[in-house]
Amino acid sequence: MAETIPQAVARRRTFAIIAHPDAGKTTLTEKLLLFGGAIQLAGEVKAKKDKIQTRSDWMKIERERGISVVTSVMTFEYGDNVFNLLDTPGHEDFADDTYRTLSAVDFAVMVIDAAKGIEPRTLKLFEVCRMRDIPIVTFVNKMDRDARDTFEILDEIEQKLALDTAPMTWPIGQGKTFAGTYHLAENAVRRSDAEVERTKVNGPDSDKVVGLLPQNEQPHLIESLDLAREACRPFDLKSFREGHLTPVFFGSALRNYGVRDLIEALGAFGPSPRAQEADSRMVQATEPGMSAFVFKIQANMDPNHRDRIAFVRVCSGKLERGMKAKLVRTGKPMSLSAPQFFFARSRITADEAFAGDVVGIPNHGTLRIGDTLTEGENLLFRGVPNFAPEILRRVRLGDAMKAKKLKEALQQMAEEGVVQLFSPEDGSPAIVGVVGALQLDVLRERLNVEYTLPVDFEMSRFSICRWISAQDRIELQRFIDAHRGDIARDLDGDPVFLAPHAFGLNYEAERWTAIRFDAVKDYQ
Ligand code: GDP
Repeated sequence: MAETIPQAVARRRTFAIIAHPDAGKTTLTEKLLLFGGAIQLAGEVKAKKDKIQTRSDWMKIERERGISVVTSVMTFEYGDNVFNLLDTPGHEDFADDTYRTLSAVDFAVMVIDAAKGIEPRTLKLFEVCRMRDIPIVTFVNKMDRDARDTFEILDEIEQKLALDTAPMTWPIGQGKTFAGTYHLAENAVRRSDAEVERTKVNGPDSDKVVGLLPQNEQPHLIESLDLAREACRPFDLKSFREGHLTPVFFGSALRNYGVRDLIEALGAFGPSPRAQEADSRMVQATEPGMSAFVFKIQANMDPNHRDRIAFVRVCSGKLERGMKAKLVRTGKPMSLSAPQFFFARSRITADEAFAGDVVGIPNHGTLRIGDTLTEGENLLFRGVPNFAPEILRRVRLGDAMKAKKLKEALQQMAEEGVVQLFSPEDGSPAIVGVVGALQLDVLRERLNVEYTLPVDFEMSRFSICRWISAQDRIELQRFIDAHRGDIARDLDGDPVFLAPHAFGLNYEAERWTAIRFDAVKDYQ
């Protein structure tokens, strides 16, 4: 019998992994995919990271700098669950991409290096998750190396993130003697991920537990396990779902410990696709009508086909191949003739997808980031954010004859989310804005390769950009008229105020109290 929508939704788990570079995100991803049977060989994700494949010229930047510029999605199954793992770029210059990706997940797995604890980028990513109340599952990795004391790690999470912790498993030994994990609620042991079932024991002093360690480490293990069982907070589902408490797992992705504990838990209590807020109402994941939003656009996935893939997260109903959807921004119908699912390396045509699933829709520039697709209803999803760029530049073109082509190319890049584009009210040339400098390199390379437009960037006199709005339209217009040389419009025609420095911005903000200056704008 065909699966019903509620059944399909209940099985789905859509998440991202957040981590400081080097904590083990790639290794963990690889192991999760292996469990899911999505790849045959360990090392495939690594291969991608090591840039064995040449996918297109602009990705040379990625190879040369040894970073992962590209966000991708991987779908795999384990047990009864379907997992959609959304990869976030490793480099912080691509923060926009990361934020958008996090707008499309239902929870995140936070990977921490057991020796280093909470590192700066983990903290930053965590803050984004908190802004959106995204529940967090913690995986403390590299327990096979010298690690901090387990209580100390838990304490650091609590202190630095102001987040309650509930250890679900406890490491048996650490470093050279790391020998497995102890499940606190079940009183059971797993010696490695190769063991499908845990072994039930009577307690920490069972020989099946302490016997795994050298004699001199045994008393410490018994003592800390006793203390953990007495003093640590028990897992509370509600508190986890609300983002107040993180369940914590310990392991070593590289040496195959603790990953099975993790994936089982994600299946058991990871949240299934949530209701999504639209402008007019909340959309439940189990509703029959299809709805989805675009959170990522990627060009050049395949050098042989100059296609652009819009990644959509399905929010409700069933997205079926061949269906007609409505692109709410334009009101026009759009045929979803070839939606695709992505695996570690391959993609296949998707016949049907449900809430939580991420599918790629090939298109030639019809879809923009933030777009909503429905089966006809006029609703717009909120929450794919746009961050005020921190670097503003004018684009200088060698060949003035190509100005029109440049304008079109920049518009396209902006719709893909590569850069933000601002058109000054005074008619001067457009200004591009990026959050990280590396994005400018990607822009330059892509304009060159895809549009044969060699460009340079000039400093602009502005360094700060804020979206402006006011309750009173007349007041807003008065501000715009008084600052014409410092006003520009974004891709949607919304006004921004450009300032040379923070002082300039503050000065205006103090004088014009009726005007709001926003550093973040939701796409709709
Ligand atoms: P990413 O930058 O977060 O994606 O980290 P990687 O997965 O690439 O891992 C960074 C380095 O740490 C690599 O050399 C891995 O082999 C190593 N590594 C990852 N997990 C573990 C682990 O559990 N134990 C040990 N000893 N090394 C690990």
